Amino acid sequence: MGIRVRYAPSPTGNQHIGGLRTALINYLYARSTGGTFILRLEDTDRTRFSDAYVQNLYDTFKWIGFYWDEGSDVGGPVGPYIQSERFDLYRKYAENLVVMDKAYYCFCDEERLASLREDQAKNKSGDQGYDRHCRNLGKAEVDEFLAQGKGRVIRLKIPMEGTTVFEDRLLGRIEWKNEDISPDPILLKSDGFPTYHLANVVDDHLMGITQVMRAQEWLPSAPLHKIMYDAFGWQMPELCHLPMVLGQDGHKLSKRHGATSVNEFRKSGYLPEALINYIAHLGCSFEEGRELFSLKEMEGLFRIEKLNKAPAVFDYQKLDWFNGQYIRQKSDAELAALVKPFLVDAGTRTEDDPAADALDLAAMPLIRERLKLLSGAPAMMAYLHGRPKTAATEEFIPKKLDKARTIELLREDARLLPSCDFSEISAAEEKFKARAVEIGAKLGDLLMPLRVAITGSRVSPPLFESMRLLGTAECLVRVESAITSLGCN
Ligand code: GLU
Ligand code: ZN
Repeated sequence: MGIRVRYAPSPTGNQHIGGLRTALINYLYARSTGGTFILRLEDTDRTRFSDAYVQNLYDTFKWIGFYWDEGSDVGGPVGPYIQSERFDLYRKYAENLVVMDKAYYCFCDEERLASLREDQAKNKSGDQGYDRHCRNLGKAEVDEFLAQGKGRVIRLKIPMEGTTVFEDRLLGRIEWKNEDISPDPILLKSDGFPTYHLANVVDDHLMGITQVMRAQEWLPSAPLHKIMYDAFGWQMPELCHLPMVLGQDGHKLSKRHGATSVNEFRKSGYLPEALINYIAHLGCSFEEGRELFSLKEMEGLFRIEKLNKAPAVFDYQKLDWFNGQYIRQKSDAELAALVKPFLVDAGTRTEDDPAADALDLAAMPLIRERLKLLSGAPAMMAYLHGRPKTAATEEFIPKKLDKARTIELLREDARLLPSCDFSEISAAEEKFKARAVEIGAKLGDLLMPLRVAITGSRVSPPLFESMRLLGTAECLVRVESAITSLGCN
């Protein structure tokens, strides 16, 4: 049948980086082995479920450029792939386990369980969880309760002693004392809803999953699942728990460290190529001495042997570096199209404006090298789309000079501008150099106030290229207005 792996998110929140990493590793494993990648929605927690989260899931993966072979939206031979559409199945399998004496009905009501919890808290006996009260009810009693229609759940019989042993592809042999497993977890709730454990195991089996690759936080569920597979008499898929993703401080990556939802990254102007390239490298290597890989390339190069056991640290700066690299690979037209929504959102320009489109296209060579996030474009490009706010006086004044001299230098700039042909940038630069020598000024001192006048800031994209885009007349207006403003302040 070949390799069959799945990404099985619970749509109880927006897709985050951890989920994307899990999905990506499963996807790459399937692609690199000619296997099948499945998307299964684990929507058994109906209280936290929202359609918006499902939509976010689809949107995220569309943006990233992923697809699945079988799944909730595309169907497939072992569907449905949405757990809420499979409830009858789970009930049937849970009841089978009862018949096989691997699980049992528990009739304890909420009141009893609450007082049990209270006692346990008071006694500090170390006993925790369910006390297995119903595990040994006689058949007659059970039948009677069932006939009465008494509320009930189905609980799994965890062996009272011994250890549960399984292999993890990455972590090796794992032994778990049965006494450390939560006593007799619920499989089917009183409202007929399955718990994660039941639905997950039944589905992985029925969907022919061969490898379960998931975040390490699910490791404690694994012994319990192993007990269930054994109880059903099924072969457990190979397990592979992926290394944790930590923040720089060694704690699990969370909001405290920065953006964690894929949406946030998207809105900040990360490119999908950069995000997946970086994320694929969290705990996995591809090829020595090389960092940039397209999704296609990674599909060919991924090897499960190259997954690391050690936790991976999420480095936001490194991600920015990746993003900058991918921005640099874009053509002018591609990059202009990518920054446009950010410029429109920021009010730098409007949506339907062919002149602005042309300007942006021409401006891409000026910003490409310095742009890390697409969201940085409006601040970098605003002066091209409109006159900047006049900077504060001290911004104009070069080191060791005063205001009067600065005004003189700006006058020189104004005199030079009309004679410059900006289609020949180097010739124009030469003119400024020569004039600086003539008037005994440093070239930098001649250009710095000019830059502030033209762009509104000391730090900007290249000055001469900017002046070419703006045109001499507009540049003169800006220089004159700077002179006026300095003269008045
Ligand atoms: N629904 C679980 C989740 O939200 C799936 C865990 C698993 O892969 O078994 O991650
Ligand atoms: Zn009970």
